[in-house]
Amino acid sequence: MSKNLLEISNLSATVAGVHVLKGLNLSVGLGEVHAIMGPNGAGKSTLTKVLAGDENYHVDEGKVGFQVDAKEVDLLSLEIDERAREGIFIGNQYPVEVPGVSNFKFLHACFNAQCEHHGVERLNDAEFREFVEAKVSQLSFDPSFLDRQLNVDYSGGEKKRNEILQMAVLNPRLAILDETDSGLDVDSMKLVAKGINQLRSDNNAVVLITHYQRLLDHVVPDFVHILVDGKIVKSGDKSLALKVENEGYDWLN
Ligand code: ADP
Ligand code: MG
Repeated sequence: MSKNLLEISNLSATVAGVHVLKGLNLSVGLGEVHAIMGPNGAGKSTLTKVLAGDENYHVDEGKVGFQVDAKEVDLLSLEIDERAREGIFIGNQYPVEVPGVSNFKFLHACFNAQCEHHGVERLNDAEFREFVEAKVSQLSFDPSFLDRQLNVDYSGGEKKRNEILQMAVLNPRLAILDETDSGLDVDSMKLVAKGINQLRSDNNAVVLITHYQRLLDHVVPDFVHILVDGKIVKSGDKSLALKVENEGYDWLN
């Protein structure tokens, strides 16, 4: 059995009849931050969706092991909500707007579902408000967002920052952030980085999908992987991200 938190072996997946992932391998250990870079259309978001359990994405081949209570479980056999309760957090490239649901209520419901799953006492409204306001303040987020509808009429950057707030509240064991830094101004990007760095510990791991080396100046990854045409074609340290930023992806072909 692998000691890794996440162990992806030979993963192939199809969406809308398009064969996107073509034998992808990736191992993520506890305490590690991995960055995944790669050209548009390489399959980065597809990987995220497959790990999240999105039913539009079909796994054709391969295995994904995820460590739960020091045992490896078959992640692909878990329902989407089970994955979330077991501590997988997905920051989507395009966060969805949920009219009629307040951000506060949404966060509270997710938080309490996790408490229940782990046999920990739930927080009532007042207790959760105190807890979440502390997170909001740590991330220099505007507290008025708590009482707005989830993602409705947020700017792109506000949606991304709200994803980081969700992550801080849920304290995941594995956070997968799909271009959470895209479209952010420098100050927002720094807040996103701060949120990630605050989460970082020996008991969790982070996978950052990004196009930009600039995020990696603030969240220094342990490993950088390049995903091209459905598989990881090169792995290295932070210097690989700099090389890609300077030279693009062509040298990998
Ligand atoms: P990346 O995130 O690396 O830019 P994606 O995983 O989003 O790449 O997309 C990989 C390929 O799969 C692209 O060619 C894209 O057009 C296709 N694809 C992804 N999702 C869908 C979908 N829901 N329907 C049709 N094609 C899709
Ligand atoms: Mg994408």
